[in-house]
Amino acid sequence: MSLFKRTKTKADADDQSVLAEIALKSINDGVIMTDKNGIINFVNPAAIKMTNSGTTERVMGLEYSLMLKLESQEGRELSETENPLAQAMQTGQPLDSFRGSLIVGTTDKRIPVAISVSPTNNLNGNRVITFRNITKELQEEGEQTEFISTASHEMRTPVATIDGYITLALNPQTATIDERARGYLTAAEKASKHLGKLFQDLLDTTKLDDRRIRPNFEPAEMVGLVKSITDDYIARAKEAKINFTFGSNESVNNTHRMEQVVYGFVDMNFMREILDNLVGNALKYTPEGGSIYVNVRGDGDRILINVTDTGIGISADDLSHIFQKFYRADNSDTRTIGGTGLGLYITKQRVEAMGGKIWAESAFGEGSTFYVSLPRLTGDEYEKRMIAVRQRQMIEQLARANQPQPSTPQSTLAPIQPQFQPQQFQQTQPQLVQNQINNNLNGEIKWVK
Ligand code: ADP
Repeated sequence: MSLFKRTKTKADADDQSVLAEIALKSINDGVIMTDKNGIINFVNPAAIKMTNSGTTERVMGLEYSLMLKLESQEGRELSETENPLAQAMQTGQPLDSFRGSLIVGTTDKRIPVAISVSPTNNLNGNRVITFRNITKELQEEGEQTEFISTASHEMRTPVATIDGYITLALNPQTATIDERARGYLTAAEKASKHLGKLFQDLLDTTKLDDRRIRPNFEPAEMVGLVKSITDDYIARAKEAKINFTFGSNESVNNTHRMEQVVYGFVDMNFMREILDNLVGNALKYTPEGGSIYVNVRGDGDRILINVTDTGIGISADDLSHIFQKFYRADNSDTRTIGGTGLGLYITKQRVEAMGGKIWAESAFGEGSTFYVSLPRLTGDEYEKRMIAVRQRQMIEQLARANQPQPSTPQSTLAPIQPQFQPQQFQQTQPQLVQNQINNNLNGEIKWVK
């Protein structure tokens, strides 16, 4: 027998449990242990303090959700199916660092927390819930976000300027260059467009990391909404020689198809961003001769939107990462197709901010389907919300009518100064180039003649 091997004695085990108790009592993270039905059988002092539960005795034997009440990070109520903590507790699956907002007792106070659940795999099916206050982490992330946001905003402007000059240099009406220079400038133009898109995506990402931005929910008929947004892609698809089909239909039998009316409560700008990214990607990753199908349908209490393409597809390895920030599948196809790896990350955040889910099904070389599922409204709920919207609009109209009219006419306001205004081209600037520059500046800065 080894000299170093010790036989465990009862005294050792007692020591261990005393030490474990001291450790659990002294840490700042909340720890709750429950049985497999979610009934609390242990809590540490930090958990009592964070949830403002008074004493240990008060919570022992209670169901965990009476002590640990959560909202989404944006302050939205979480239904049972949307609440990852409830799901993990029910199924016995682990949960890793879900970020939510902890409702402190019966007060208005909220603490941002990261919650984990670890099943113990013992006979009783105990589950251990740990949660920690992430106020400081969020503050630091907020500072980082602010920095990236300012930097990308500042860098977008000179990039648009570079892009503008390259466009002018490539335009035979504004510059004379030889074929070699055209080749160099075309490559430079491609790179500067990529950079411009990267800064724009970074800016969008930081806007979305900023938790002060909340969705502006409005009732909407979803089939019409999705159709009107994706109709913008018909011309682009035609140009790329790709078939584009929008179908919001439910097969009643083989011959009849019934238009479905599906109501939702969504942010219109978020919907546009989501569909722009999904349909934009479908176009980008589908070669000539391929097809894209967009569909919207009601599925119980959810709305299901799918964007399907017959394009290059995504391998199983990549599929689990594509919604991460900056992730791009690396293969011979994607290497030649420009991208930033931010579009799907932004899309996922937008979908989740509206209480939805996004996922993809694909196989390499066999096309892809992206699904977005959003909460659905019944016809009655839609009507009620529409009435509320109309009332709000009426109140706003009345408030505007009662406001004193401005004494200064609008035309005397100072014009917005452009950032990019090459004097020598002002008279000859073709409209096309102007539009291009305005687009690059994202419409925020107008060209002034
Ligand atoms: P990107 O700017 O690179 O397109 P996204 O975040 O939109 O960034 O997409 C991440 C990655 O997912 C892409 O780089 C690509 O590899 C893959 N991807 C997204 N959509 C599709 C699609 N419809 N078909 C094939 N691959 C796709």
